[in-house]
Amino acid sequence: MAELVSPCCGAEYSDDHIPVSTCCTAVPAVSETDLCSNCLEHTDFYEYACNNCDEFFEEPEEDYEYDERMKESIAEDRMDEARDMGE
Ligand SMILES: [Zn+2]
Ligand SMILES: [Zn+2]
Repeated sequence: MAELVSPCCGAEYSDDHIPVSTCCTAVPAVSETDLCSNCLEHTDFYEYACNNCDEFFEEPEEDYEYDERMKESIAEDRMDEARDMGE
């Protein structure tokens, strides 16, 4: 079975902390849960925190998706390098 991991590090994460706003990483306003308590704008909230780097994120990722993404970004880096060498 695939495991869910943090999208930044492919590491374990916690989902038991208070959500923070994507704009200010502030807690939701008490009366309106989609309102940032810092700037009082409607916003999205990060529900999860990575245990490895303490980054917040909205949705965990399947570990194989993380692996795929890493492979793709490595492949892209190689292509960039190859292009740089050609210049
Ligand atoms: Zn992380
Ligand atoms: Zn805000």
